[in-house]
Amino acid sequence: MSIKKKILIIDDEVFLANVLSEQLAQEGYVCDIAGDGREGLEKSLSINPDLIILDLIMPVMDGFTMIERLRADNRGKKIPVIVLSNINNAKTVEEMRSKGAQEYLVKVNNSLTDIVAAVSKLLK
Ligand SMILES: [Mg+2]
Repeated sequence: MSIKKKILIIDDEVFLANVLSEQLAQEGYVCDIAGDGREGLEKSLSINPDLIILDLIMPVMDGFTMIERLRADNRGKKIPVIVLSNINNAKTVEEMRSKGAQEYLVKVNNSLTDIVAAVSKLLK
């Protein structure tokens, strides 16, 4: 048996984070949740997840700032990041890719199954 991959979900939408966490757990991943960017950054650097799912609009610290700080730290340079946001415009997608996000998913356009598929694609 392989060691379970750890996924950190950083999102202030508690319901979405919980549902996504349960879905990923069913697929065999170990999940943790952070409710804002600062908590997400702290957890990223301490638990060293195999992948991060990152919302953009959040209290305390938004996802734009969080990924900048993550990529500025040696411990966070290589952790794959999937942005999962309601923001749907090419400029923001490009901005997040230039900040180091591997994938960008718009919430309303992607089902839980789509999100899980994007996770497993990045982790295989
Ligand atoms: Mg949000």
